[in-house]
Amino acid sequence: MSPDAEVRAGSAGLADLLSRPTTVRAAVKTGPERTEIREFPWPQIGEADGILRVEAVGVGGAEPEVYRGERWTPVMMGHQVVGTIAELGPLARTMWNVEVGERVVIQEYLPCKACTWCMRGEYRFCPRSDFFSESPPRRFGLMDFTQPPHLVGGFAEFMFLPWNTVIHRIPQDLPAKLATLAIPLGNGVQWATLDVNAGPGKTVLVIGPGQQGLGAVIAAKQAGAANVILAGLSRDRRRLDLALRLGADHVLNVDEQDLLDGLRAIAQGVDVVVDTTSDPGGENMKRYLQAANQGAYLWVNCMDSGVPVRDVKRKYLTVRSGRGRTYQAVERALQIITSRVLPLEDLCTHVFPLEDVDLAIKATAGRGVEGAIHVIVEPWL
Ligand SMILES: [Zn+2]
Repeated sequence: MSPDAEVRAGSAGLADLLSRPTTVRAAVKTGPERTEIREFPWPQIGEADGILRVEAVGVGGAEPEVYRGERWTPVMMGHQVVGTIAELGPLARTMWNVEVGERVVIQEYLPCKACTWCMRGEYRFCPRSDFFSESPPRRFGLMDFTQPPHLVGGFAEFMFLPWNTVIHRIPQDLPAKLATLAIPLGNGVQWATLDVNAGPGKTVLVIGPGQQGLGAVIAAKQAGAANVILAGLSRDRRRLDLALRLGADHVLNVDEQDLLDGLRAIAQGVDVVVDTTSDPGGENMKRYLQAANQGAYLWVNCMDSGVPVRDVKRKYLTVRSGRGRTYQAVERALQIITSRVLPLEDLCTHVFPLEDVDLAIKATAGRGVEGAIHVIVEPWL
């Protein structure tokens, strides 16, 4: 027996230790805000595929919107997935550089790995998995489950991993709950540091203390930002307090004081703005134009109130908006998580079993449960 064959034989032995039932339970969306538990047959894998035993799934900040809508039906949701490789085709083992029994975080993108964007490593823009492409995006958590291999979302006991799955290996001893933060914190790293240069010496204003905003605070501070300010509302009091323990230097309650007045008291303008709210009407943007220092970077979601280009030109501003995250961003997030220097477990406020996916998604939107920040589903709970 060759050494390679020995390893494969060993892996198969390990696989036998993992649960391999004939059917797999999953929570699926069958209509707007309607979830059902269904059972699916154990999927057959090809040489380049794998199967993941799901340990924990974080509920994304955008998932309540997917859950409410008619568009994404029928769909198996869940995309902040942490699990253990349960089965592996020989080609997948080589391509992914993992073994059965190893633990991983996966990203939701299922890119073509052949287009210009993919070849540049920017699979988030791949037409195959991009939100903005004309065909339905190929992404875990947004796909129809009614055709084989069925297990295309994280709210399930097992997931089918096709050849183009984006995989990050994680330490064997990293708590699954913490690992589910890799995606939201990866967003924070991408949006605050890689997109708009929050880094050494910078004054950074983050708007909105949800999981993405808190991720931006953590990423900016860990990147060396001098002054990180987080703005929220009175109802966010608990999140704002937590932000101070996660790296924010100041928090502003904009129900109690005007944003610009609050900023003037603690900073001489801002170098970076990351607005994780939808900023309906674009009213916030006017304030950012006033607060921005020369050469500032603004990361925003709305400019509907009209933005005078002369202001952008006069202050030499760079304006960007969010478009997912890179591989590098999630790797950096995992570095921050595994360093264990921050009380990140305090972000993980609620854990629900598969039967309560409906409540888990609603809780993420502040419904049904008080005080939720990062909500997790554990299918084996
Ligand atoms: Zn591509």
